[in-house]
Amino acid sequence: MKQDFKISYSRINTYLFCPYKYKLIYLDDFHIPVNADITFGHIIHKTLERFHKNGKQIYDTLFECYDDAWKNDGFKDSQQIFEYYSRGKQMLVDYYKSFTNLNAKILYVEKAFYTNIGKYKFIGIIDRIDKCNDGKYEVTDYKTHSKIWSQKKIDQDLQLSFYAYACKNVFDFNVSKMSIYFLSENRKIYTQRSKDSITNAVNIAIEIAKNIESEKFCPNILKCKICDFKLKCEYSSVKDLEK
Ligand code: SF4
Repeated sequence: MKQDFKISYSRINTYLFCPYKYKLIYLDDFHIPVNADITFGHIIHKTLERFHKNGKQIYDTLFECYDDAWKNDGFKDSQQIFEYYSRGKQMLVDYYKSFTNLNAKILYVEKAFYTNIGKYKFIGIIDRIDKCNDGKYEVTDYKTHSKIWSQKKIDQDLQLSFYAYACKNVFDFNVSKMSIYFLSENRKIYTQRSKDSITNAVNIAIEIAKNIESEKFCPNILKCKICDFKLKCEYSSVKDLEK
């Protein structure tokens, strides 16, 4: 086990998907191939980070940040670049309209945190924390894919539970509102986290951290079909079928 063992939401999520995939990525240094969706997600996050952190938050600056953040890695061809670039522009036009009507002060963007869960180090980055005009705090996670999640999926999302935990334990405030902002549709869906749901998330994190520490990396072959390593992994149940 590497000495700098830390847990995070993405590590936990990977382990829940397939413990062996966790091993491939975090111990064996396999890399997930870059694709258009991954690159596009990074570009939009970087654009909004630069827009809010640097300079004047005016319309033209937003698109300068977008052009500065743009990169072509992982796109298939120029047609796909054009499609994603146009989609991103529309997202930002809509985002700016919402931003100008915001009833809150944006306190943090891409805010990194470090804390402990049990005896384990836990790290993460929160997309945005606002202080609303009524004095309450709101945490927002951006999503750039076009599929909107159901309310149930959002209510059960582990990542938001960890963010609620971090707000209390690192930033010392209780989050009143949590939201996932689906930028493609310019739609925020709200949720909340009870003490029980945060405790549940903490227990999941501790259990997975213990498994990682004990090097329990059992392949979950039910997920091979949709795994990034389905053609490389020695345990892949679909490797021979897809050749
Ligand atoms: S191919 Fe299957 S067993 Fe291998 S890492 Fe992916 S999901 Fe796990």
